[in-house]
Amino acid sequence: MRNTFLPFSKPCITESEIASVADVLRSGWITTGPKAAQFEADFKAYTGCADAVAMTSETSVMQCLVRALGLGPGDEVITPSMTWVSMVNITCLCGAKPVFVDCDRDTLMVRPEAVEAAITPRTKLIVPVHFAGAVLDLEPLRKIAEKHNIPLVEDAAHALGAEYKGEKIGAKGHVMFSFHPIKNITTGEGGMFVTDDLDLAARMRSLKFHGLGADAYDRQTHGRAPQAQVLEPGYKFNMPDMQAVLGIGQLARVDEMNARRARIAGLYDEAFSAMPEILPVRNPEGYGFKHSHHLYVVRIVSDKITRDEFTAELKDRNIGTGLHFRCVHLQKFFRDTFGCKPGMLPDTEWNSERICSLPFFPDMTEEDVADVVNSCKDILSNR
Ligand SMILES: *Cc1c(COP(=O)(O)O)cnc(C)c1O
Repeated sequence: MRNTFLPFSKPCITESEIASVADVLRSGWITTGPKAAQFEADFKAYTGCADAVAMTSETSVMQCLVRALGLGPGDEVITPSMTWVSMVNITCLCGAKPVFVDCDRDTLMVRPEAVEAAITPRTKLIVPVHFAGAVLDLEPLRKIAEKHNIPLVEDAAHALGAEYKGEKIGAKGHVMFSFHPIKNITTGEGGMFVTDDLDLAARMRSLKFHGLGADAYDRQTHGRAPQAQVLEPGYKFNMPDMQAVLGIGQLARVDEMNARRARIAGLYDEAFSAMPEILPVRNPEGYGFKHSHHLYVVRIVSDKITRDEFTAELKDRNIGTGLHFRCVHLQKFFRDTFGCKPGMLPDTEWNSERICSLPFFPDMTEEDVADVVNSCKDILSNR
């Protein structure tokens, strides 16, 4: 057994990235300034988007987004339930209603037909999720959104570096990213909104900084433009330079880190092809895409051991796991408020009971991978 704990995720940060953060701390300017502007410019260059707005988290991007789109009571937002709670919470906080759509049993992503079937005259926003770094079939989703004239905003928390039919996620449409420490790159906490709609980008830029008509930094005055006025009440979600500078270093290495993740995924795939009780999430078929390998999610499919017993036994062997995700619609608030009941989303619920995320991060060694695989074998053979 391992004598050190193997976490399911761990950020990959270099000494030169640490030094760059220290440089910002010593520079006399630590909040939003030239580094945040540089990070946005680098993000634009990397994804090919028209504009990028850095914020303190993806959840804060969502908060500005529902404001920018004018969502409120009576409006509906279409979302998977197999996701993190952020978009659903923000929907509820602005008074709108989440409309949950079931996922595909094997890819864990929403099917375009299911999204279209959920549209009503009250639908104001569609937010599908690129799950674990695989990529949604965007063409049919874009067609549906266009046909019904409803904004489509991709939750790409898992999909930095991923591509759809040769196009980088973020290059087109409205897309939200997260830089939480478990994501493909990190700024400690952070998020980015990218869009090809320059008016929407300008509105988001203002909303994330008090609703002022100017951004948080003005090069001439080395501070905030003193003449800026509030155009509409806004939030305080600007990304500080001490975080943005970490993002600059991380983004420069994202392809390298994702390649390392791909290699680890390959080792897992091979090992689990011989273990029928461990069923990795399947890649979508029928369109070309490049995976960003954010998470390695498996389903424990056995009548001898439950997922919770399995992850507890891994923990006893010094191996951590994650759960992405416990379905949202059956969590207390959503049951109580919207009357969501078991059986509503069968494929989401089937997965919610069986999934777990295995240790998966760029600095994992092949011995770490072997420890996970051997522990899984060991647990299953003892049953
Ligand atoms: C991490 C995550 C978020 C939230 O990102 P934050 O930056 O932590 O706000 C949203 N959606 C999904 C699918 C995520 O995995």
